[in-house]
Parts: sequence; structure tokens; C-alpha cells
Amino acid sequence: MLHGSCCCGAVKFTLSSPPTMMGTCHCTRCRKVGASALVFVKRDAFQLTSGADVISTYKPEAPYMYNRCFCSKCGTSLGEVTSDNETFPVSANCFDDELNLSNSFHEFVKEKPHWYKIGDEAKQFQEHPHS
Ligand SMILES: [Zn+2]
Ligand SMILES: [Zn+2]
Repeated sequence: MLHGSCCCGAVKFTLSSPPTMMGTCHCTRCRKVGASALVFVKRDAFQLTSGADVISTYKPEAPYMYNRCFCSKCGTSLGEVTSDNETFPVSANCFDDELNLSNSFHEFVKEKPHWYKIGDEAKQFQEHPHS
């Protein structure tokens, strides 16, 4: 069982099976909300154990469609933990336990500031990997 939480501890979650994939998004939105390294988790495996009442959701304007959740007390970016999708991204930084996987791709590299140097061999995509 993997455990995760926000900075102040109000939000806590568990994950009963390890995430399947990690990706890093360099788009301006992920960068500003502080959730660039994301792991993809299965809805069945993810359990919010506390803090549902303090989670705020930022809904971006179209054409952007991914709602971003964060702790309204400390501002920690959580990913898309209130998503209804079968699989959704959770901010890798929120995990208290070590994750046994490493980054497998970089997306939106075209929006990456040049002061950030990619330091791994993972595949790079200018936009979404599927586009
Ligand atoms: Zn918090
Ligand atoms: Zn992004």
C-alpha cells in the first residue's frame, strides 16, 4: 500500500496497486500549479482517506479540459484526484512512499523554459504523446 498526502497533512490518500506510468509535463499550466511529474493511477486502487472537504478544484477554460485539484489549506497540487476517469494522473510529489518507477516520457517540451534541463533519457514529445 502506497501513501500520499499534501504538505499540511489535511489531504491523505492510499493507493493499493502501484502506478503504471510516470510522465513529466512541461506545459505552462502544469508548471504553474507545481505538478509536472505525474503518475497514472487506476480509480479502483485510489482511495482518498481524508481531506475531501478541503480539496479545491481549478477548472481551466476550454480548450483545456483537465481539472486540477489542490489542498485549499496549503496549496499542494494533487493532480486530478477527483476525476471520474478509470485512470487519472496524481502528482508524483504527493507520495510519502518511494515510487518504484521512473519517468517514461516528457510532454509539451515546446513549452519548457530553457533554464530547465531535461536530465534523463525518456522520450520527448513537443505536445501530447498521442498527437
Ligand atoms: Zn494541505
Ligand atoms: Zn501539462
